[in-house]
Amino acid sequence: MKQQIRQIISKAVREHSLSRDDIILILSCENSHDYELFQAADSVRRQYVGDAVHLRGIIEFSNYCSRNCLYCGLRCANKNLRRYRMDADAIYKAAASAVSIGYRTIVLQSGEDSTYDADAIADICRRLKKLGVAVTLSLGERPYEEYRLWHKAGADRYLIKHETADPELYKKLHPGKTLASRIDCLRQLSELGYQVGSGCMVGLPGQTIETLADDLLLLKELDVEMAGIGPFIPHPSTPLAEYPPGPVDMTLKMLAVARLLLPLAHLPATTALFTIAGDGRERALCSGANVVMPNVTPSEYKNLYEIYPNKSRAEKTMPVAGRRQLENMITALGRTVAGDQGHSPKRKFSRAVS
Ligand code: SF4
Repeated sequence: MKQQIRQIISKAVREHSLSRDDIILILSCENSHDYELFQAADSVRRQYVGDAVHLRGIIEFSNYCSRNCLYCGLRCANKNLRRYRMDADAIYKAAASAVSIGYRTIVLQSGEDSTYDADAIADICRRLKKLGVAVTLSLGERPYEEYRLWHKAGADRYLIKHETADPELYKKLHPGKTLASRIDCLRQLSELGYQVGSGCMVGLPGQTIETLADDLLLLKELDVEMAGIGPFIPHPSTPLAEYPPGPVDMTLKMLAVARLLLPLAHLPATTALFTIAGDGRERALCSGANVVMPNVTPSEYKNLYEIYPNKSRAEKTMPVAGRRQLENMITALGRTVAGDQGHSPKRKFSRAVS
């Protein structure tokens, strides 16, 4: 068994492909092999995307959401949450402030909130591009024409996680929605020229090792430029409140296998991992990750974007001090902080300062 796992890992390091059975074997094996897996992922990360860690500043500009995902504190059925929306000027101000302390990518994230129509988002993209940053959008499922308009307005990247590759589980967790339409969005975004990010949660109720293997194979099939893999964290005001959080070790293994399969992808050390494990970011950065996405939302709203609880505790430092702490942590790992916009190395992408 020991020898077999070693051979599978070496093959993945060379070929960046794995069968479903091989992935299941790696994910199921006992901890004794984790170190070799993490080391292999770390060496592939170094070889393909280097030592630089990209810091992306996230602005969570609205916590209104029309959807009702069973795991999420922003679900529309949660009446215990105070809702907020930032206007275009407030978003611009937060972005300019993040740029002034060194961020070169701004990620605009919200629930599915149609109050911001397509033109409003396009205007915001155009304003942010004048700051000389890459713009990533994470606004959920929207019509193709809106994606097209925003890309023309300067949006470089789009994040929309598939969350689980099991169509039945997806349907249960996302009432009235299907995995197929999620995947359609990912394909449309890619066709439009976005650098596309997807990802999944680890430890969802009803998930199996087989499902997790399918998550990784779907990321590989979609050939995503970014993949966010974080643990499920139960939120007390959701139907999944009583379930345990996803395991840290399995999340790290998923991340490491993702690095073996997608050597050029940007893989974040997720805030969710940091929320449930104080050393989660460091461990992720040593297991294949090369991105951190600090929250640069104004402090009056930060606590209210509560997809899962205690997120703000994980990010309680103010932007300047938080960035300094992050830089120190990254340097202590022998890594560097990227000074560029961090476009996907997969594409010769030169939207740069437009
Ligand atoms: S996961 Fe996203 S789409 Fe679902 S309820 Fe939360 S914010 Fe809305």
